[in-house]
Amino acid sequence: MKKLIIANWKCNPETFKESVKILESLKKALSTNNKTIICPPNIFLRELISQYGDDFLFGAQNCYSEQKGAYTGEISPNMLTNSGVKYVILGHSERRSIFKEGDKEINMKIKKVLEETKLIPILCIGENRGERENSQTHEVIYRQLNECLKGVSAEQAKKIIVAYEPLWAIGTGIHADEEQIVDAKIHISSILCDIYAKEIVSKINIIYGGSVNSNSIEMIVNKCLMDGVLVGGASLDPVEFSKISAC
Ligand code: PEP
Repeated sequence: MKKLIIANWKCNPETFKESVKILESLKKALSTNNKTIICPPNIFLRELISQYGDDFLFGAQNCYSEQKGAYTGEISPNMLTNSGVKYVILGHSERRSIFKEGDKEINMKIKKVLEETKLIPILCIGENRGERENSQTHEVIYRQLNECLKGVSAEQAKKIIVAYEPLWAIGTGIHADEEQIVDAKIHISSILCDIYAKEIVSKINIIYGGSVNSNSIEMIVNKCLMDGVLVGGASLDPVEFSKISAC
């Protein structure tokens, strides 16, 4: 099975020239059958797709829940698809914590994306450090999944990628261990099975994100049997990211 190796560049790099440099190096270093999806800042998307659309798949890091109108600063799902974008990250923990996006808002975005476009949503969920320490991980995942998927039909749900991204692992250099990842995967699958039929759930990709690097990738995809990874920091280093992609 092909793994999903997703690069979240966040608000990096500062220039278009640098983004080309990363993809040029990555193109040379990459040797993989896996699906490599690059999520750069929106402003670089269109041009990068025109230059590298044959080499990589592209995703956005966010979008709005309306297609057009008086929503200053927002980008709509249709604008993304019309620019050749195939995936969109929704509910990333930085959107939740810095920009105060809640499950209700994320649910509206997911529904719009699934109802009106062919974009594939990458739904991020996961607990923070305090919640883990208070044994609330299962509760948080349960709430986030149920709220974010409210009103999403079985047919629509098949397309979704669920990214388990514990906040305490993002950008810290400390990834979740095997037991924690397997436990989250089992919990996510069982919640999804409460909402949808088993045949539907078997089609939903469940991936892991949080300080993934070339040392941890083997454990994540081969031992924990995750369907892929969402990579932040390490995705800006073409050599390291190509090693991750080669899993
Ligand atoms: C992320 O931002 O989704 C992420 C996983 O970041 P990092 O790999 O840097 O922890």
